[in-house]
Amino acid sequence: MLNIQQQVPLLKYNTLALPSTAEYFCKVASDNELQEALAWARKKQLPITLLGGGSNVVLASDLAGLVIHIAIPGIELVSEPNQAEKIIRVGAGEDWHQLVLHTLKQGWYGLENLSLIPGLAGAAPIQNIGAYGVELSDRFHSLEAIKLSSGEAITMTLDDCQFGYRDSFFKGLGRDQYVITAVNLKLSAKANLCLEYPALRQYLETKTLAGVTPPAITPKLVSDAVCAIRRSKLPDPTEIANAGSFFKNPVISSEQLETLKQKYPNLVNYEQAGGRKKLAAGWLVEQAGWKGITSSGVGVHDHQALVLVNYHGTGKDLLSLAGDIQASVLDKFGVSLEIEPRVYCK
Ligand SMILES: Cc1cc2nc3c(=O)[nH]c(=O)nc-3n(C[C@H](O)[C@H](O)[C@H](O)COP(=O)(O)OP(=O)(O)OC[C@H]3O[C@@H](n4cnc5c(N)ncnc54)[C@H](O)[C@@H]3O)c2cc1C
Repeated sequence: MLNIQQQVPLLKYNTLALPSTAEYFCKVASDNELQEALAWARKKQLPITLLGGGSNVVLASDLAGLVIHIAIPGIELVSEPNQAEKIIRVGAGEDWHQLVLHTLKQGWYGLENLSLIPGLAGAAPIQNIGAYGVELSDRFHSLEAIKLSSGEAITMTLDDCQFGYRDSFFKGLGRDQYVITAVNLKLSAKANLCLEYPALRQYLETKTLAGVTPPAITPKLVSDAVCAIRRSKLPDPTEIANAGSFFKNPVISSEQLETLKQKYPNLVNYEQAGGRKKLAAGWLVEQAGWKGITSSGVGVHDHQALVLVNYHGTGKDLLSLAGDIQASVLDKFGVSLEIEPRVYCK
C-alpha cells in the first residue's frame, strides 16, 4: 500500500547529507506501487524526482512535487542454468555492491571491477557507472523502464541507451522521462578478468596478493583488491558526507594536450577513443591549490582533491565552492570542469 508523506527531510537519502525537504515523498517496492505513485502525481500535476541511494545528487534546494525513492527488489537468473552466458534481471532497488557480491557468490562473473560503487542498480545506467577499467555498458544486456508521462512500460537495448563516459540517453534526450525498473546484465560462468587498469594491476602485482600468480587471480580476489584500493583512496560517505568524484575527467584534443604539456610536463592524461585525451580532474584541482581547503562547512577532501565533502554546509555552499574551483582550473589550465552528480537547485 503506497504511503505518500508530506514535507520529508532528505538528509538521510543523500550521501552528501545536504539539507533538503521533499514536498511529497514515497517509497515504491513494486512496479504496481510505482504506477500508483506516477498516476497520483499526474493527477495532481506535480513534478516528479526519482531517488535511488542519493549518492550522485546535489540537493541544493527543497524539492517541489513528489520524490519517489525506488526500492524495487529482485535478482533472478533469466538465462538457462547450464548456459555459460548468465543473463540476470536485477530490480532497480537492489544495492549495487550487494549485487556484485551476490553475483560473485553464484559464480556469475563480470562485475568484480565495479565493486563498492555506492547506489542502487536502477541508477547504474544513468551515468553508465564505471571503475577500474570496466563500465556498466560492458556488461549491459537491456533495461526495463516506465515512461513518466504515460506509465507505458518499455524495454531498451544497449544501442537505445547511448552509453558514453559517465553518460547515457538518460542524461540527454531521455532526461527525467523514464523510471528504470529493472536492469538486465550479461555475465559469464567463466571468469574473464579485466586487469589492465594501472592501479589495479599494480595492486595485484605488489601488494597484499604478492605471491599469487596470474592463473590464481580469481574474480573474488579482483573484487577484494578493488574494494581495498577504493577504501584507501575514497572517503566513506557514512563517515564523511560526499558524492564520490565531483567533477568528470575532462576530455581534450591532442593539440590542447601538447600545448598544456609544454607548461605542465607532469600533466596526467589517458588515451581516449578517437585520439582525444582524458585529463585527471583531481590532478587539475590539486594543482590549482584546492586540496584540503574548507569553506562555509564544505570542502575539498584532504587526500583526494576530486571529492568535495560536506561537514555542515548546504547544497548552495557546495555549488559555490565548486564554482570557485571550476573558475580557477579554467584560469590556470584553460580546461572546463563539468560537475558529475545531478544538481537539483531551484
Ligand atoms: C564514495 C563514492 C564513490 C563513487 N564511485 C563511483 C565510481 O567509481 N564510478 C561511478 O560511475 N560512480 C561512482 N559514484 C557515483 C554513484 O555511486 C553512482 O552514480 C550511482 O550509480 C548512483 O546511484 P544512486 O542510486 O545513489 O543514484 P541517485 O544519486 O539516487 O540518483 C542519481 C540520478 O539518477 C536518477 N535515478 C536514480 N534511480 C533511477 C531510476 N531507477 N530510474 C531513473 N532515474 C533514476 C536520479 O533521479 C538522479 O538524477 C560514487 C559515489 C560515491 C558517494
